[in-house]
Amino acid sequence: MIDDGPSAVISSSGKARTGHDVIVIGYGPVGQMLALKLGQRGYRVLVLERQPAPYPLPRAAHLDDETARILQSVGAGPQALAHALEPYDDFYEMRNAEGATLLRLDWSGAGPSGWNVSNFFHQPSLESHLDGLVAGLPHVSVLRGHTAIGHEDLGDRVRIHVVDLHGDVQTFEAQYVVGADGANSLVRDWVGGPVEDLGYFHDWLVVDVVPSAPLRIAPPALQHCDAARPTTLVPSGPGRRRFEFMRLPGELPGDLDSEAATWGLLAEWGMTPATAVLERRALYTFQAKRCLNWQRNRVLIAGDAAHLMPPFAGQGMCSGLRDAVNLEWKLHLVLAGRADRRILESYGPERSEHVRHFITMSMALGDIICMTDPLLAAERDARLVADLASGAAPPPPPRPRLGDGMHRGEHGGTLSIQAPVTGPGGAALFDDATAGGGTLLLRSPDLLDVVGDPHVLALSNAGFQTVALADGPGEGQVVDHSGAYEKWFSDLDACAVLIRPDFYLWGSADRVDRVADLCAGFLAELSTRDG
Ligand SMILES: Cc1cc2nc3c(=O)[nH]c(=O)nc-3n(C[C@H](O)[C@H](O)[C@H](O)COP(=O)(O)OP(=O)(O)OC[C@H]3O[C@@H](n4cnc5c(N)ncnc54)[C@H](O)[C@@H]3O)c2cc1C
Repeated sequence: MIDDGPSAVISSSGKARTGHDVIVIGYGPVGQMLALKLGQRGYRVLVLERQPAPYPLPRAAHLDDETARILQSVGAGPQALAHALEPYDDFYEMRNAEGATLLRLDWSGAGPSGWNVSNFFHQPSLESHLDGLVAGLPHVSVLRGHTAIGHEDLGDRVRIHVVDLHGDVQTFEAQYVVGADGANSLVRDWVGGPVEDLGYFHDWLVVDVVPSAPLRIAPPALQHCDAARPTTLVPSGPGRRRFEFMRLPGELPGDLDSEAATWGLLAEWGMTPATAVLERRALYTFQAKRCLNWQRNRVLIAGDAAHLMPPFAGQGMCSGLRDAVNLEWKLHLVLAGRADRRILESYGPERSEHVRHFITMSMALGDIICMTDPLLAAERDARLVADLASGAAPPPPPRPRLGDGMHRGEHGGTLSIQAPVTGPGGAALFDDATAGGGTLLLRSPDLLDVVGDPHVLALSNAGFQTVALADGPGEGQVVDHSGAYEKWFSDLDACAVLIRPDFYLWGSADRVDRVADLCAGFLAELSTRDG
């Protein structure tokens, strides 16, 4: 029986194709990341993608340092993406119609994950790079032009019904299915459960241009909070610029969504057909939504399928990639038989709570930006200009902790740092200088004796390395030459931290005699988690 409501009648030809560990539905950046990470571990992954060809037009333009670290983990860090990504090193400002600064967010320099806090990129080039990495994995198959249309929960596996471009229906089976099938997700319906709808943020015309000469917009990432036409101006990867124009009350979508209207809007910023190529334009309704339930037995959702937010903080895809890495290491432990499958139940609660902060932040920025009433805008301007003059600092970017799940103690569920260290191969960011991934990190090498070989071995079997800060590099030892880790340990008041493969802390030990308990507690949770 197909579990898609009474009206779903599907006849499929032939037997179900089995042998897959995971079926990923949707090959946007989130599905790509999941397939890539699972495939790099050697799992048999089938990806089903409705579109016969890659989506050629950019949507996301910005990613943060944590996302850059996630990309680094699959061999697609900023250095590998120089053709697609530009690190940003300036402020992100909201200015009013007269050019007065209302809000100034510091988006310069490196963030705690070791990469620039802000990076602008060209999404199709990023996806093409990830696709190239997926193509090199022998156990990952990507079927384009294949739309998932139904599923059956068979208890110990899931059967998926798929229609191809010729109308032929096929069935595939896997142990787990992940819907990374975007904003209009079908898999979300399969999972069921409430969706928290936080409202919408108007219609915006999103325009990408390739200017013939670099634009002089300072700072390069700017919100022009003009009540007469709220406008976003940001970079969007090497040689490209993104403009977004809000549809005003009383305007019809068609008033904006034409090539002539687009050039009319661009003209104010010096863009004409003689000075720029119009690469794309699309009218979007920005939404803010969050699923409260992300799993039903062996079916899970990730990315836009699970949450939507207006793009003012550039965090939608970033959040989806966090979903992918949170889910992937848990799936790995379960598929490898190294953890009870109940650890998967931590995925939704952890991610749902975490993403709430980014939705809230994006909406707060939207409240400032999307103001078209001149009186309210004048009040806003007076308030924010006064705040800025008084030295009131804007809120720092949220570094929220995960919701309840697989972590313990005061620091569990917070994001770890990544800094340069000196390892046996020389100086590099921590994940490159070591094996990366899950790590028991010790503040000094003598703690290795406290941990003990059985714990080191058991952690290694679960895919976690043990690394100590030391005076000289060596096997399992790195030098904290910048002092960043010493400062971090000091801030945490900890002597050991257990870092999950998604870079969040499982927990920390504040005393030497608690380090062994830290390891034992984590290892016990893999086998005994019961919610
Ligand atoms: C204008 C705009 C600007 C944005 N800016 C940013 C930004 O700066 N930074 C940021 O982080 N995020 C940004 N975002 C959000 C970001 O683009 C999305 O969060 C991200 O692309 C979602 O990725 P995904 O893989 O979850 O879904 P998608 O990229 O939507 O991929 C889903 C895939 O699933 C496929 N699919 C759907 N149904 C089926 C089915 N039944 N069977 C098979 N395949 C199916 C679709 O064809 C699609 O390819 C922006 C979004 C917009 C619209």
